[in-house]
Amino acid sequence: MNKTAVRTLQQFLADNDSYRARVDGVRGPKTLAAVNATLQTHAGRLPDGADRWSDRRRAVACLQIACQQHKIEVGPIDGLWGPQTEHAADILATLQETGSKPAPWRDQQPLDANPNGWYREAELEQALGSPTRKPPMVVVPCPWKLALAWDLNTCPSGIGCHEQVADSLARVLDRVHGHYGPQRLRELGLHRFGGCYNKRRKRGGTRWSTHAWGLAVDWDPAHNKLKWGRDRARLARPEYDTWWRLWEEEGWVSLGRTRNFDWMHVQAAKL
Ligand SMILES: [Zn+2]
Repeated sequence: MNKTAVRTLQQFLADNDSYRARVDGVRGPKTLAAVNATLQTHAGRLPDGADRWSDRRRAVACLQIACQQHKIEVGPIDGLWGPQTEHAADILATLQETGSKPAPWRDQQPLDANPNGWYREAELEQALGSPTRKPPMVVVPCPWKLALAWDLNTCPSGIGCHEQVADSLARVLDRVHGHYGPQRLRELGLHRFGGCYNKRRKRGGTRWSTHAWGLAVDWDPAHNKLKWGRDRARLARPEYDTWWRLWEEEGWVSLGRTRNFDWMHVQAAKL
């Protein structure tokens, strides 16, 4: 049972008013007292002999009960810290932190369509020319109101992108808007536009970014940071499944969905 799991347990106990000390990941006497009180109220769910378990095992059992209460599959309440309990505890931690469980990502394979014949990243410089010269750009109007992620008072009317991907981008935006509607898009943070054309190299790399040709769009960067995986990134959550499907049907590639980092980023180029 690691420190994160202890913190998750303490948060559960605090939410149930049996723990009022700091949620610090340290399994001390106050945590133990709250664990014992909670186990007592759930005594009927514990196997015989549970009263002789060690403090640690009782703490794990309490965390297992917490997972069960949130309908997270955790297996039998045995107080043993195995892989199933650890995975369940991770799900509970995400639920506590974000208000929803992480998406069951093993079920969601990204679509690998390419109806517009997007180039592979490695072909871009030859096919579209060096990004040291500004590419031919078109501004695609956005059917819902955008705000710059780093300055929410500035509201661009559209997205400036490479002319070759403009029609496709317009179709995606239109379908997204039709599916979610403006109010839901705002709730989902999809008005937070993180930029498209940007003459720069890849962050943490030396090659040109697809942004340097105006082929990539970033969304809500504050909640989808570069190194975050699906356990933290907002755009990895199940309410965005349709969002991603609508991009992928047009051949766009999400780095989050394919590589599990940079969830803000979607590009009209194959990896
Ligand atoms: Zn990006």
